[in-house]
Amino acid sequence: MIKAVIFDMFETLVSMFSGGTYFSEDMATDLNIPVDAFKKAWHSTEHDRSCGNCTIEEGIKKALEMLGCYSEESVKLLSDKRKKNLEGIFERTPVDTIALLQELKRRGIKIGLISNCYSDEADAIRKSSIFPYLDAALLSYEQGICKPDHEIYKKAMEELGITAEECLYVGDGGSNELFAARDLGMRCLQARYFADLAFEPHIPCYKLDDFEHAYKLSDILEESALGTAKFYYKNNNAPKPNRPNHIGSTILIFHGEKVLMESRTDSNRWAFIGGGLFLTETLIECAIRETKEETGIELQEQDIVFKKLFDDPSIIIEYPDGNIIRSMMAVYQTELKEAPLLQCSEESKKLKFFTPDELKTINVVETHIPILEEFFPEVVTNVDTVCFRKQ
Ligand SMILES: [Mg+2]
Repeated sequence: MIKAVIFDMFETLVSMFSGGTYFSEDMATDLNIPVDAFKKAWHSTEHDRSCGNCTIEEGIKKALEMLGCYSEESVKLLSDKRKKNLEGIFERTPVDTIALLQELKRRGIKIGLISNCYSDEADAIRKSSIFPYLDAALLSYEQGICKPDHEIYKKAMEELGITAEECLYVGDGGSNELFAARDLGMRCLQARYFADLAFEPHIPCYKLDDFEHAYKLSDILEESALGTAKFYYKNNNAPKPNRPNHIGSTILIFHGEKVLMESRTDSNRWAFIGGGLFLTETLIECAIRETKEETGIELQEQDIVFKKLFDDPSIIIEYPDGNIIRSMMAVYQTELKEAPLLQCSEESKKLKFFTPDELKTINVVETHIPILEEFFPEVVTNVDTVCFRKQ
């Protein structure tokens, strides 16, 4: 269950491109300084500005001193113009943003913010109409750390009193924020609804195919309402099953050295193809049916070999509806001669073939770890946090 949504600020809750803009090239033009030289000096102060080592005024002063053209009036001119521009950005906060925050509150979902920002942006955020809705606001200028540093995410989770699995992170993707959130185990959405407003060279992040996307603010509500299944293997904290033992078939579908996996809708995590046994079928028929349903691939019995029954009693799945099952899996294998046309089902958001090396980098459900241990031992020994994430 999602208990909190953590947002990025710019290009996620508000857009810098919603009206007039004021970027480094505008600052240089206002002072009659060559744009490229100013940008270089300005960007060299970015880390200090973001991490609270200097205020915006001190950052401008430093940059102008590097160029030998510092004056108090120039600092005031630029910082005042930035301030006015920021006020405009927050005045134009979309009504949909506020409506979304209100609806999340109504549903009892906590709201967090992690923003990489300078001193003037931190001030503007604290004065904004968004700020009163935030249960936790982690501003890099105040925290002394920036995204994608995991520490700032951990602090947000701590303040919100939630675990990564209970969190949906929403951001446009700037500063590699989505990769860090995903590495920590959060569900992620890339905000794309402001994407068309941005222009070069200020586009913070392009579309990332590897993530789910929000094309309108209401997509965030939908995603936050999704339940999440939990998977356990050799975990002393696993809940006790409350339903009859469950048996199903799982199939390793190889094409060359690559094996097919699906990203499950119930958890946003990767798993081998498979599912539960029907009353009227055999295990191999179950493997064939599940393969057809989840991938569109039609297999014949003679193409399939039985590999092993996985019946470790610690393989447990907890569904969002409260059902907890002990899962036993008959694992089959097949090899495709040609690359198939893949069709996703309702149960899978994505289907993809992975090399053993690539398996090390994806977030596999714990209940399929014993399958990795058996057939891809090199993957499990090398994986500590991603595949073998402790619950
Ligand atoms: Mg952003």
